[in-house]
Amino acid sequence: MIRKLLIANRGEIAVRIVRACQEMGIRSVAVYTDADRHALHVKKADEAYHIGPDSVAGYLNIHRIVNIARAAGCDAVHPGYGFLSENAEFARTCARRGLRFVGPDAEVIRRMGDKIEARRVMQAAGVPVVPGSDGNVESLDEALAVAEEIGYPVMLKATAGGGGRGIRRCETTDQLRRNYERVISESRKAFGRAEIFLEKCIERPRHIEVQILADHHGKVVHLFERDCSIQRRHQKLVEVAPSPQLTEAQREEVCRHAVRAAQAVGYRNAGTVEFLLDTDGRFHFMEMNTRLQVEHPVTEAITGIDIVRAQLHIAAGEPLHCDQETIRRRGYAIEFRINAEDPRNDFLPSFGRVTRYYAPGGPGVRTDAAIYTGYEIPPYYDSMCAKLTVWALDWPQAVQRARRALMDMGVYGVKTTIPYYLEMLKTPEFQAGRFDTGFVAAHPELTHYATERSTREMATAIAAAIAAHAGF
Ligand code: ADP
Ligand code: ADP
Ligand code: MG
Repeated sequence: MIRKLLIANRGEIAVRIVRACQEMGIRSVAVYTDADRHALHVKKADEAYHIGPDSVAGYLNIHRIVNIARAAGCDAVHPGYGFLSENAEFARTCARRGLRFVGPDAEVIRRMGDKIEARRVMQAAGVPVVPGSDGNVESLDEALAVAEEIGYPVMLKATAGGGGRGIRRCETTDQLRRNYERVISESRKAFGRAEIFLEKCIERPRHIEVQILADHHGKVVHLFERDCSIQRRHQKLVEVAPSPQLTEAQREEVCRHAVRAAQAVGYRNAGTVEFLLDTDGRFHFMEMNTRLQVEHPVTEAITGIDIVRAQLHIAAGEPLHCDQETIRRRGYAIEFRINAEDPRNDFLPSFGRVTRYYAPGGPGVRTDAAIYTGYEIPPYYDSMCAKLTVWALDWPQAVQRARRALMDMGVYGVKTTIPYYLEMLKTPEFQAGRFDTGFVAAHPELTHYATERSTREMATAIAAAIAAHAGF
C-alpha cells in the first residue's frame, strides 16, 4: 500500500486528494509556489514544500517535484488534472525514481495525448471515431482537400490539444484559410507543438463521456457516463451523471465502446473516454483523458465509488474489488464549476480577495473548494475556485436541489458564475434535461440577470457594518 503521497497540483483537486489520503491513513505532501503560500491545499496537507517563486512553472518542474517526493520519503505521486497530469515524461521520471505514478503507463499517456494516434488506435479496435483526416494535415492545401472530402463545416484541432484550446470551427474554405495558421500558432503557444488535424463538425452534439477504472490484473470496468454538453467555448461548465438524454440501450452501447477503448490501449488506473453523440443517435469517439477529471464527483455521487481512493488502490497494485455487475447507479447528480468570473462581462476573470465564503449544506450537497473567507485568489491560475455537486433521486429533484444549494452558497468579494447558473436552471431545456453543446451560445440572455445577489451582498455588508458599529 501507499504510505506517503506527494500531490503535484494545487487548488480544489489537491484538497480533494488530501481528503482521500486522510481517510486512507496515507501521509499527504503538498507543494506550493510563492503565490500559493496561503492556499488551502498547503494548510490541509500533512507536509508542504516550496517549489520556487514562479507561479505556473513551479507546478511544471518535473525534476524539482520528483526530488522533493524522494527527499520527503514519498512512495507515490498523484498528478491531479492539468499541469503534469498528462505529461508522459513526468510519469516516466516518477517510475525511474522509484515512485508510483497514480495514472497509466507513460507510453499510454503519450499515445492518448496525441489525438491522431488515439483515433488510429480506436479505429483499429472497432470503436467509431469522428470522421476526419487520417493523420496530421501538413499544409493548407491538404487541409482544404480533406475538408472538401469530409464536407463543411469542419473542426480544425490541435493534435496535442486539451482544456478546450486549439479548436476552431470552419464553415467555409475562407474560414479554413483564415483559421489554419491561427490554430497552428495557438497550438504552438499552448502545447509547444504545431501539429493539427481536421474533423467533421458534428452538428448539435451531446458530449457524452464514460468513466473507466482498470487495474493491473487485466480488469476494466466502467462507472457509467457523464453528460458534459453544457460548455462555453469548448470548456465544460456543468456536468451531469447519468445523462438524462440517453436511452438504456445507448448507455450500454457507449459504455461498451469505452471499455473496449480502454482495453485496446492496455489502460491502467482511472480514465475517461469522450464521445460526441450526434442527432441520429450515433456515438463518435473524440479523445481519451488519461487522468482524474474535474467532473469526477458526479460519478462518485451516483455510484458511491470514491474514484481517488480507487486510483490509489490501483496504483498500489491491488486488484479492483468491484465487478461490473456489482456497480450500481442511483439518481442524478449535477456539478457546477464555480468560476471566479463575471458572466455579465463576457466571463472576465474576477480575481481578488474572497471577503466571505459560505459553503452550502443539507441533503445531497457536496462542495469541493479551494477558497475560504479572507483568501486572495491569485491571478495566475484557472478561474475555477470551487465546485458544487448536488444529488437527488430523480432529475426534477436534482434541479430543485441545485437551485436551493446555489442560492445557499455564498462567495463574496469576487464575481462568480453562481447567478448565471441560477438563470440556467430556469430554462425549459435544462429543466427537461435536454441540451447540446450549443446551449450556452444559444442563450446569451442568461447573462442579463438582475442584481438579486448583489442586493443580498449589500444587505450582508450593511448588516456587518451595523454590527461592527454597535459593537456586537
Ligand atoms: P476535464 O476534462 O477534467 O473536465 P478540463 O478540460 O476542464 O478538464 O481541464 C482541466 C484543467 O486541465 C484545466 O485547467 C485545463 O486548462 C487543463 N488542461 C487540460 N488539458 C490540458 C492540456 N493538454 N495541456 C494543458 N492543460 C490542460
Ligand atoms: P479538449 O481536448 O480540449 O477537451 P475535445 O476534442 O475533447 O478537446 O473537444 C472539446 C469540445 O469541443 C467537445 O466537448 C465539443 O463540444 C467540441 N468539439 C470537439 N470536436 C468536435 C467536433 N468534431 N464536432 C463538434 N464539436 C466538437
Ligand atoms: Mg475533451
